[in-house]
Amino acid sequence: MKNNQKGKIAIMLTAILAICLSFFIAQFAIGFAGNKKLSTDVNDGPYIDIINNEMLVRWVCQGQKKSKKYHSIELPFNFEQCGLKARVDSVNHVAANAIYRGDFDVIAISDIHGQFALMETLLQQHKVVDLEGNWIFGDGHLVITGDIFDRGDKVTETLWYLYRLEKLAADAGGKIHLLLGNHEVMVLNQDLRYLHEKYQVVGNLFEQSFEALFSDNSVLGAWLRSKSVLVKINNVLYMHGGFSPEIAELKMSLAQINSTFKQSLVKKELGRERASNESFLHGTDGPIWYRGYFGLLSINEEKLDKILKHFSIDRIVVGHTSQEQVLSRYHGKVVAIDSSIKNGKNGEVLLINSDRLYRGYLNGKKSVLEMN
Ligand code: ZN
Repeated sequence: MKNNQKGKIAIMLTAILAICLSFFIAQFAIGFAGNKKLSTDVNDGPYIDIINNEMLVRWVCQGQKKSKKYHSIELPFNFEQCGLKARVDSVNHVAANAIYRGDFDVIAISDIHGQFALMETLLQQHKVVDLEGNWIFGDGHLVITGDIFDRGDKVTETLWYLYRLEKLAADAGGKIHLLLGNHEVMVLNQDLRYLHEKYQVVGNLFEQSFEALFSDNSVLGAWLRSKSVLVKINNVLYMHGGFSPEIAELKMSLAQINSTFKQSLVKKELGRERASNESFLHGTDGPIWYRGYFGLLSINEEKLDKILKHFSIDRIVVGHTSQEQVLSRYHGKVVAIDSSIKNGKNGEVLLINSDRLYRGYLNGKKSVLEMN
């Protein structure tokens, strides 16, 4: 090799090395700036613990942890700090029924995953709430089929919004059914894999693992522990994932499925291993994880018919398995309502008026659901 060729190669190698080095330095600087921005921008909470007749209220304002202690339980409690809002009228939660009947409208939404703004817009556009977040849906029922937690960064805001709205709905003769999804159950059981990084920062600030902020001493934690995994409204059964055909073999009523699921919700608090029924309900074929109505391995219609007959229902509404829109499967026997709100761009709701089903769009328009 000639000397000038060697020289050219050396120059080229030096240039490549310099480019690589500057790329890594830039990445490091962006990462550092990103982290810095994240921690000073964080507003979150409140997290309210009630222990021995005392209330400890904690929140994060611009990356700083704040707290206030009350030596009695002051209800109704209104919190407004740093753009964060919460209202607690009561901390006593009566377990909901598994079955409701009536001639009222139903709206269902799923897999909000911390996308507060999309949820709020959908509820406003479809006249569930007004611009101040007041319930204007009368005796209607709002069903949320799970997965408020994880992915997005407005989980706490969503929970407090629904906590307040639940009371307003009840006062107006309406009802909110907040059903548990796998992500609620994962977070309560310390599986924090899908947490938005903001909540890692919040946990670190309070020197606690994030799920400890939702202990059974906390207002939101106790509220979540009171929630069901399914509800039947008229001829429709709602849940996060779905029922596998094996569910019928358990010979459990819908109310028993709710109570069995609930009593084994948080493994750490159980003090024993989950029994076989409990393990089944929490497993991949149980109501929060099942995906058997979709894809290549989906069950045949005959098996689905048996499930519908067993529980005396005409259809099952599920979230969990993401779609681009609210859509029907098995000629309307399954309606999938996870419309990918998690992507933070768009979303739909399911509207049921008598026996008519509609897709409700983000702009407030609706169209009859095609029964494919
Ligand atoms: Zn899910």
